Amino acid sequence: MMGSGFRAQGSEKQKRDDREIACGVCPEPRAPSPEPGLLYIVATPIGNLEDITYRAVRILKEVDLIAAEDTRHSRKLLTHFGISKPLTSYYDHNQQLKGQQILTALANGRNVALISDAGTPGISDPGYQLVREAVASGITVVPIPGPSAVVTALSAAGLPTDSFTFIGFLPNKPGKRQERIASLQHEARVLVFYEAPQRLAATLVDLSTILGARPAVVARELTKMHEEFVRNSLPELAEYYRDAVVKGEVVILVGPAVETIALATDAEIVICLRRYIEAAGLSVKDAVQQVADETGQSRRLVYALALEMKTTE
Ligand code: SAM
Repeated sequence: MMGSGFRAQGSEKQKRDDREIACGVCPEPRAPSPEPGLLYIVATPIGNLEDITYRAVRILKEVDLIAAEDTRHSRKLLTHFGISKPLTSYYDHNQQLKGQQILTALANGRNVALISDAGTPGISDPGYQLVREAVASGITVVPIPGPSAVVTALSAAGLPTDSFTFIGFLPNKPGKRQERIASLQHEARVLVFYEAPQRLAATLVDLSTILGARPAVVARELTKMHEEFVRNSLPELAEYYRDAVVKGEVVILVGPAVETIALATDAEIVICLRRYIEAAGLSVKDAVQQVADETGQSRRLVYALALEMKTTE
């Protein structure tokens, strides 16, 4: 039985034409109509071309215009699926101008699909701004779900999946990156980061130094031939990747601290405090909070040890 949650293929509302406003990106003007087009946000594969939905292919075949991050890159995907539609670019540095042209096309009744180089548009990719402006202009935005590296990595990582925090890319500059990681210390959910392969080793060192010995996973080349999951603690992963030449795309997932160091001794607490204050650059207040959370000891006791540590320096 076709559940009410399903929409029959081919039943997508098709908007037909409009006022003759030249938008600069559409093939030819059409007859006037007041109804705006639909903006489809279409997820595409993150590696394996089989990971595209029937619906995504159909929508891409039906729309009047496809806005793509890199038109040359997307043309290959579209050709593979026999899709031949006008393409326009929409990327970080032309979002403002192209966004306006796309909105004009939508206002003219054209249905537009937005795709990115891989995965779901708007997820560490251009898309948010266009969606926001479309919504503000009263245009209906229709998501066409599909792959995204964050969910793909989570689904097989073996870390808790009931709740997680998606961070995306950390700042490139080491200082800013460490600051951002330090701001996540009290986050009890799984953390998901996107990272460039050449920065993986440095990021793992920062994560390990600041977040400690948490369980973590490096998910590489998802859905591709050399797909790989490396699971270990952050310090072990930092060591493993220290001098490695990493190829391909990676997602880093960091689990919550496995357990508190029950019955931590004063000496262990001082070691933790030193790690957070001296190595990670946390304030005494933040370090005390972190260590209290991790050890299950009272903040008062940890604070007293922090003060003692300071006076004996
Ligand atoms: N929009 C995409 C999504 O929905 O996942 C993300 C685009 S973002 C510019 C690219 C980053 O996503 C890569 O640097 C990597 O961290 C992650 N990524 C994308 N594809 C991946 C893959 N096949 N395997 C591992 N990570 C991937």
